[in-house]
Amino acid sequence: MKVTVLGSQGAIPKVGLFSSSLILNVCSTNILIDCCEGAQFQLRKNKIKLSKIEIILISHAHGDHYFGLIGLISTFSLMKRDKKLTLFCPLSVLKILQAHLKFSNMNLGYELEMKVLNNHTIIKILENNQFSIYAFPLKHSIYTNGFLIREKEKKRKLILEKALEKNIDKIYYNKLTKKENVINNDGVEINYIDVTKPGKKPRAFAYCSDTAYFDELINYIKGVDLLYCETTFLKKDKEKAAITLHSTTLDAAKLAKKGGVKKLLIGHFSSRYDDNNDFITEVSTIFEDVIISEEGKKIEV
Ligand SMILES: [Zn+2]
Ligand SMILES: [Zn+2]
Repeated sequence: MKVTVLGSQGAIPKVGLFSSSLILNVCSTNILIDCCEGAQFQLRKNKIKLSKIEIILISHAHGDHYFGLIGLISTFSLMKRDKKLTLFCPLSVLKILQAHLKFSNMNLGYELEMKVLNNHTIIKILENNQFSIYAFPLKHSIYTNGFLIREKEKKRKLILEKALEKNIDKIYYNKLTKKENVINNDGVEINYIDVTKPGKKPRAFAYCSDTAYFDELINYIKGVDLLYCETTFLKKDKEKAAITLHSTTLDAAKLAKKGGVKKLLIGHFSSRYDDNNDFITEVSTIFEDVIISEEGKKIEV
């Protein structure tokens, strides 16, 4: 798993800085999470092939999280995309997109599967052989979701010298990595445990878009390897955070600590602040393993 930050800012972008968006690469699939204004420029700048994006997740209908969507979807069309694209978003974003497609009389030329999120508890929205995606409700001024992406258990790894020692035909190697016992060339059953070792540990990433802190959130993100949580405000502005239903540095740190996550990535910084290092300083008082969002930053999960 790898995260590439496309935008670090809150609602107001600055020169060279963008609102919230990131790319999650999981098992060779690129998932775009939120799509800020200018996201496609950031994708190009960071050399992420547009054709490799298969899934887009939009957390909510505030512009800083989806203003780039119409542009990106149109560019896919102009580039003669033929691969299917799956979009998960609230009904409001879907209606805006449909209105654009109608009034621009645009024939996309590729399959755009649009799935509406209207859950009010955590639900699984996609599952394949390699990973699952969940959406969970956040506490914001409009209907908003966070997302959890969890890799499935990886295949075991074959220990070749042991397999050779046990006289196993190589046509069975794949079965062994899928935890199946096999019969060797001498007619003896071989337990997969004896000739394989555990594969890479499955990883999990959670994305908390705009939200106030609430206790239930801990259960949604518990134990993930990397948690993204917005920190729009420093602690001195906690009243503003409460009014606008956003998180402060201390809210995100508390969530990371109570959730037992391994690392915390913070972003969605209000444009009122000049020095983003203050965010790290404040978070670190409660949760040490914190990373600050910066355009183009890559984080191995
Ligand atoms: Zn926002
Ligand atoms: Zn918002």
